[in-house]
Parts: sequence; C-alpha cells; structure tokens
Amino acid sequence: MADYETQIVVIAGGPAGLCAAVQAAEDGADVILIEKNAAVGGAANMGMGPLAIGSKYQKRQMYDITVEKALNMFMEYTHYNVDARLMKRYFEQSAETIEWLEDMGVEFEGAYKYFTKSEPTWHIVKTDQGIGPRAASFMNKALFARAQELGVKVMLETPGKKILKDENGHVCGVLATDKEGKEITIACKAAIIATGGAGANPKLIKEETGYEFGKDMFNFAIPGNVGDGIRMAWEAGVDHVPVRIEQAANFEGIDELPQSVPNVLMQPNLLVNLFGKRVMDEEQMQNTTFLSNAASHQKERKLFSIVDSSIVKYYMRNGVDEISMVRTNPDVSDFIEGVKQAEESGNKGLYVADSIEELAEKTGIDADNLVETVEEYNDYCDSTDEEFFKRKKYLRPLVKAPYYAAAIRPGGYGTVGGIRINENCEACDKDFEPIPGLYAAGADACNIYDDSYMFLLPGNSMGFAVNSGRIAGMEAAEFVEDED
Ligand SMILES: Cc1cc2nc3c(=O)[nH]c(=O)nc-3n(C[C@H](O)[C@H](O)[C@H](O)COP(=O)(O)OP(=O)(O)OC[C@H]3O[C@@H](n4cnc5c(N)ncnc54)[C@H](O)[C@@H]3O)c2cc1C
Repeated sequence: MADYETQIVVIAGGPAGLCAAVQAAEDGADVILIEKNAAVGGAANMGMGPLAIGSKYQKRQMYDITVEKALNMFMEYTHYNVDARLMKRYFEQSAETIEWLEDMGVEFEGAYKYFTKSEPTWHIVKTDQGIGPRAASFMNKALFARAQELGVKVMLETPGKKILKDENGHVCGVLATDKEGKEITIACKAAIIATGGAGANPKLIKEETGYEFGKDMFNFAIPGNVGDGIRMAWEAGVDHVPVRIEQAANFEGIDELPQSVPNVLMQPNLLVNLFGKRVMDEEQMQNTTFLSNAASHQKERKLFSIVDSSIVKYYMRNGVDEISMVRTNPDVSDFIEGVKQAEESGNKGLYVADSIEELAEKTGIDADNLVETVEEYNDYCDSTDEEFFKRKKYLRPLVKAPYYAAAIRPGGYGTVGGIRINENCEACDKDFEPIPGLYAAGADACNIYDDSYMFLLPGNSMGFAVNSGRIAGMEAAEFVEDED
C-alpha cells in the first residue's frame, strides 16, 4: 500500500523540475514534487537566466537570431553529435517560454551576450537589486508560487531514491525518504527525473570524465547534486550516455578576491603554459569554456594570465577591454589592494614578481622560454601577432615591474548528461525505446553539447532545463491522461 498516490511524481525542484511540475499541472495532471533540499531552485538560484531564441526582447533590441540560425550554429558546433530533433523542439519553444514565465510574474532585463563574440540569447531575470548573480532565484520563486497555486503538492527534504516499475516495465511509483527519514512510496503512472547532475560527486566525476575535483577540476559543487537521478534512471534500465562537465575556466581563489583582480587578470592578456609558451589567441579567453578546454590540455592542466604594471595602469585609466556580466562592476581601481589581500590570505593562484625570471620561479614556468615569449610578444605589440593572430587592440607589451600572474584552471558549473532521452524527454533504454512513464529533464539529461558547453549561445543550460522540464511535463501529462 503506497503512502501517497498521484499521477506524476517530479523528482526535484530545480528549474527543470519546477517547470515540469507547473506544465503538467497546467495540463490537468495531479502532481507531487519531491525535493531533497529544504528549498527549491537548485543550482539555478546562483545563475542569472535562460536562453531564448527569437524572443520579443531580441526583436525589440533588433537582434536577428532565428531558430534556423541558432540550430545551424549549434549543430555545426557539436559536429552533429547531438539530437537535432530535441534541439529544434527546445529552441522553437524557448521564446514562448519567456512569455510563459512572464505570465507567472517573472520579469526580464532583456537579452544579453555573455561575451563580445557570443549571441544575445541570455535572458537575464530582473530583480530588485539590478543585474547580477542569483537573479534566476527570482524565477524559481515565481515557478514555486505557480506550482502551489496549481495544487502541486511539494514535499521538501524528501529525496527520491528509486523508480518503481510494474511487471510490464511501466513506472508505477517512486521510493523516497521523508523529512523524518522514513521510507515512503508514492504510487504514480509517470515520474520525471530532474536532479541536476552530479557536480557535487567527485567519484562520479572521476569515473565519467577523468577529472579530479580540487586537483585538476574546480567546478561548482551544489550540495545535494550528487547524481541521484542519473543513478535512479540507470538502475531503471535507462541507457547510460556520457556525463560531462559544463566547463567554465576557474581562477584559483576567485571568490575570496575583490572583483578587480579577476577583472584585470581575465582580460585577453598574455597567456602561457608551464613551458612558457602561448597556446591561443587570448581574445578567445572570454569564452570561458574554450579557456577551460585550453587549460585542460596543458601540463598540470594550468595556464597563466600575465600582466605588468603598465597594463594594470592602462586598465585603471581606461577601464578593462572586456566587461563581464557576472562580475558586474568593471572597476579595477583597487587592484593593487586586492592583490595584497590575496597574498595576505595565502591565495595560491596569484603571483607577484619584480622580474620575469622571478615570476617564472614563483609559478614554475620555464624561465628561459618565458623570457623569450615575453620578448617575442612585446615585438608583436609593435607589429602583428605572427603566432596566434591576436587583434592589435589587445596587444600590450609587458615592460614594467611588478609583474602579476594568475593560474587559470579547468572549472565548470556542474555536470551535464547521463540519461538518454528523446525529443519528448522520454527516458530511453539501450534500444532507444522509451521506458513507459519515465521522463528526464535538465542537467541529468542534458546531452546536447557533445564535448563542450555552447557558450556562443549563452543561457543554454538553464534554457535547456526550463524547456526540457516543460516538454517532460507536457508529455507526461498526455501520457497519464491516455493511461486513464
Ligand atoms: C554559479 C552558477 C551560475 C549559473 N548561471 C547560469 C545562467 O545564468 N544561465 C544558464 O543557462 N545556466 C546557468 N548555470 C547552470 C544552471 O544553473 C543549470 O544548468 C540548471 O540549474 C540546471 O537545472 P536543473 O533543474 O537540471 O538542476 P538544478 O538547478 O541543479 O536543480 C536540481 C535539484 O535537484 C535536487 N535533488 C538532487 N537530488 C535529489 C533527489 N534525490 N531527490 C529530490 N531532489 C533532488 C537538488 O536539491 C536541486 O534542488 C549556472 C550554474 C551555476 C553553478
């Protein structure tokens, strides 16, 4: 005898789960949402907003981005290694999703780029504190309120444990643990898994990606996101597809430093590896996924961004070249103070030296090569960058001590992928056959990037979460109606 009975159980209350629950309830289904934490919102509470293609904001801002353009960009970027039908459905729905969210009280600042070369697809949620991290928590609040208004029963501190199937292999329930730690069974006809991936599970990350958390991978680890849903799906017979890190380069100890330090050191400065060699046109550093990938392919998975005092002074006088939407204050006037603070607090990723040789010694970079690279680079500043063709506007010589370097390491937002789904967000077995009544959405099922996050269309992972959540909700609601 089950403890509860409903038509659809949504496992988790991040944006994917919340959207799934709201959509299914709007479509007439009885829904119970179980969430492991004491609050809903998941990783998205730290983010700023989802992608949309062809939204009214883009039209108003006269940005010409269509589903056709975005889909072609996306499929070329991923070398057609991902499901184009799912991508098309996601992109096609994304503009209407913005209005669907607005109807429940979410407001948007507009459509933004993440960096100069990206497209303005990032729909940043409006807050009472202006643009900045955590803006999307306002979206989650509105989704939660809408779910409650629609009668969704939300059970917090209730982690899902297992998908139950009947003798025909159809989903018939979900096993969970309630607030008191008691095992409970919720009978249902459909379950939607949306537990946000495994960013806080170093073991799974190591097994699936080879990276070691804290050693050569410095991703966000949102408590509770340990891959429960991925494991539940695999145990229920769903096909295992690769779990990847949604990579974004990390600057060691960045969170403890004044923003001026990363503001300066994440500019397209001279970038070298431990051999003292450049590895890329540093303008591409703004695409933090590319930077993380580049760092991943170096000795000890390390790169160093280097500036001298004259470049620091230039940034102080003229402002930085590239402004980050995440570090919303581009001011760098307290850079020197920030560096001192970093030294005093024992920050291990920041180095200051009175000569290039000393910088090499402190960082472990090959000294002869670094001296040679700086000489060559300074020559390019007077002519052209023959090595990586960096644009003239970013070329500034390193001539004046002290010199500053920051270690750049692979990082990421969390994991993406693991559960095979089709365009209807049905969870599928090895033969690509849907497991009747089982759906997945969000990071657990986000198999859409191949090996690298698509930052050229920013807002993509939250965009996938909200839209795949809606798709799973609609499809599950239709499924349970047909079953009755
Ligand atoms: C700092 C930061 C900033 C970001 N900014 C952006 C951005 O601006 N735009 C963007 O596109 N993406 C952004 N992302 C990524 C984005 O937040 C995620 O892609 C998105 O939150 C995924 O949604 P989700 O619902 O799948 O998972 P999550 O939001 O992680 O939610 C998962 C939920 O599952 C719950 N859970 C886990 N296990 C269980 C269980 N067994 N039973 C019940 N519940 C469970 C968790 O407690 C959590 O509430 C950011 C990520 C981080 C870390």
